Amino acid sequence: MNILTTQKVSYGLYVISSWHDGKATGCIANAVMQVTAEPAIMAIGIHHDNFTHACIKKTGKFAISILAEDSDPSLIGTFGFKSGRDADKFDGVGHSIFGNLPVVNDGCGYILCDVIDVAETPTHSVFFGKITDAETFGDRKPMTYAYYHEVIKGKSPEKAPTHIAEAAAPQKKARKFRCKVCGYEYEGESLPDDIVCPICGVGADEFEEV
Ligand code: FE
Repeated sequence: MNILTTQKVSYGLYVISSWHDGKATGCIANAVMQVTAEPAIMAIGIHHDNFTHACIKKTGKFAISILAEDSDPSLIGTFGFKSGRDADKFDGVGHSIFGNLPVVNDGCGYILCDVIDVAETPTHSVFFGKITDAETFGDRKPMTYAYYHEVIKGKSPEKAPTHIAEAAAPQKKARKFRCKVCGYEYEGESLPDDIVCPICGVGADEFEEV
């Protein structure tokens, strides 16, 4: 068996959100799909240990915010590399309330669901949700999981100095430094002392050369 074949399945990148005691919380998920059109039903896979998992179980509701290719990558750090148990993840993140659910503004749109069933796997619950509302924000391109890995995480952002240098200057020997928290890779002659990971927000201490 070649388990890497599963990487040929395409995914998006989403913020799944709900409430905890009146406070918005959420996490990143890539396992999100529409199961049926009529009635319109979505399925999402959420890890049992995730704080959002408990919140969805309790409220029976969740929102799917669909991230765009040009969404701020720090959203992935905020919702993917911190726990809602410790951090108020929506604090400082532009969001709106639609149908009584929190939705991230910086994305392609949202889908709101009421949980109608749950299936269990050893690590994740698959929540089935009937769509109660959905809307798009303009005409943005949805971020795929592959795009995140190949472009956002694997390369310097377009505005980073290294990116410009790569294009304009003759190739100098580039070194690669990887964020130990989220896997973001920085390429350059050396790691800037004041680097802040654009995805998860940690400093130079959390980078190692690869
Ligand atoms: Fe990072």
